[in-house]
Amino acid sequence: MTPAAKNWAGNITFGARRLCVPRSVRELRETVAASDAVRPLGTRHSFNTVADTTGDHISLAGLPRTADIDVPGRTVSLTAGLAYGEFAAELHERGLALANLGSLPHISVAGAVATGTHGSGVGNRSLAAAVRGLTLVTADGGTRTLGRHDADFPGAVVSLGALGVVTSLDLDLVPAFDVRQWVYEDLPEATLTARFDEVMAAAYSVSVFTDWRPGPVGQVWLKRRADDGGPDPMPAGWLGARLADGPRHPVPGMPAGNCTRQQGVPGPWFRRLPHFRMEFTPSNGDELQSEYFVARRDAVAAYEALARMRERIAPVLQVSEIRTVAADGLWLSPAYGRDSVAFHFTWAPDADAVAPVVARIEEALAPFGARPHWGKVFTTAPEVLRTLYPRYADFEALMARQDPDGVFRNRFLDRCFPR
Ligand SMILES: Cc1cc2nc3c(=O)[nH]c(=O)nc-3n(C[C@H](O)[C@H](O)[C@H](O)COP(=O)(O)OP(=O)(O)OC[C@H]3O[C@@H](n4cnc5c(N)ncnc54)[C@H](O)[C@@H]3O)c2cc1C
Repeated sequence: MTPAAKNWAGNITFGARRLCVPRSVRELRETVAASDAVRPLGTRHSFNTVADTTGDHISLAGLPRTADIDVPGRTVSLTAGLAYGEFAAELHERGLALANLGSLPHISVAGAVATGTHGSGVGNRSLAAAVRGLTLVTADGGTRTLGRHDADFPGAVVSLGALGVVTSLDLDLVPAFDVRQWVYEDLPEATLTARFDEVMAAAYSVSVFTDWRPGPVGQVWLKRRADDGGPDPMPAGWLGARLADGPRHPVPGMPAGNCTRQQGVPGPWFRRLPHFRMEFTPSNGDELQSEYFVARRDAVAAYEALARMRERIAPVLQVSEIRTVAADGLWLSPAYGRDSVAFHFTWAPDADAVAPVVARIEEALAPFGARPHWGKVFTTAPEVLRTLYPRYADFEALMARQDPDGVFRNRFLDRCFPR
């Protein structure tokens, strides 16, 4: 089949010699066993070369798409190519939910998990932390199933596609819940920095959007559980911000029609936790993205470091989003071992203009041990990555054991984990 030419954002032209779309796990295993260079491909939503290869791309799009729900056990076992939005409604109908979702429901579960994708919430961990088991096709065409009791498991979840092709995933679920979403505007910047923890803990999931220009912070999106018992909406004049008088898009001036319902209309978790509606399917995007995770205790100092370079950031930025991610124990998770704040940047689609700003942000955030999002634009050097991830060497060893001939390696892995 013709190779998938580009990623979603169009900034990466893949170098794959062919795109394989096996119709069964058996065919997938035969394809991997016969290839000297393979890379699993999800929904192509990453912004760097993490998914690229000069060998064979393998898509799971041709495999059966199933989600087996165990209601009493509160788990779902799914084929890894599914996107979150494809099975969320069924979970809800069965009285169950995922604890959290990212901003876009169209992203494949396997791809999201492989890069440590996350939503927001001081009590919410990355989406990968919901994984309780997985099965992958290994370089020799065999299969390996891992669960939380396996020593390699914490290294095999956020795996960057380096260990094999994940074919199925078991996820933890929680009881279904409803969410009301409110958008507040013009939070004074001094209030955000003075009461940062209070702002970020004001709802189940909180996102702060800013363009870094001087003045108040653009928007605060509060996604409140309908059963949280708190004031709804917040009392008038909450922290000096103003309740939006209509639906909003995170990028000022963009139409809000593609965004999930706001203004406190209650709805199921999967229709409120993402920012964008499943029915709206963006096939490509005119943007680049970067994101950096620091410990939550460093959030305000990191914010101020970024604010000091606002003149550099603002001209090439569409919007920034600030979220919280609770700590997990997955070796390559950007929230490994520390409750984190993630500073996200949606850039203009101009790689040359963005690159020096990204480099400058990495310098500014270096004192905070900022970990880059694996699926977004970054330049962090391998010797720095090694210091940022306490289990970096363990992951290197796991890669070497699991894939001794480097069948799953690519340019990205060679850069981040040089041999
Ligand atoms: C509009 C938009 C919104 C986003 N919002 C968020 C957000 O809210 N939070 C956040 O954290 N990130 C976000 N991201 C980033 C995105 O979640 C990650 O880049 C994610 O990895 C994309 O998943 P994918 O299926 O597209 O994977 P791809 O980009 O196709 O691949 C990513 C990695 O996953 C691996 N992979 C894919 N499938 C498999 C498999 N079956 N087995 C093993 N490895 C596999 C690939 O080899 C590659 O290493 C967003 C991206 C976009 C474009």
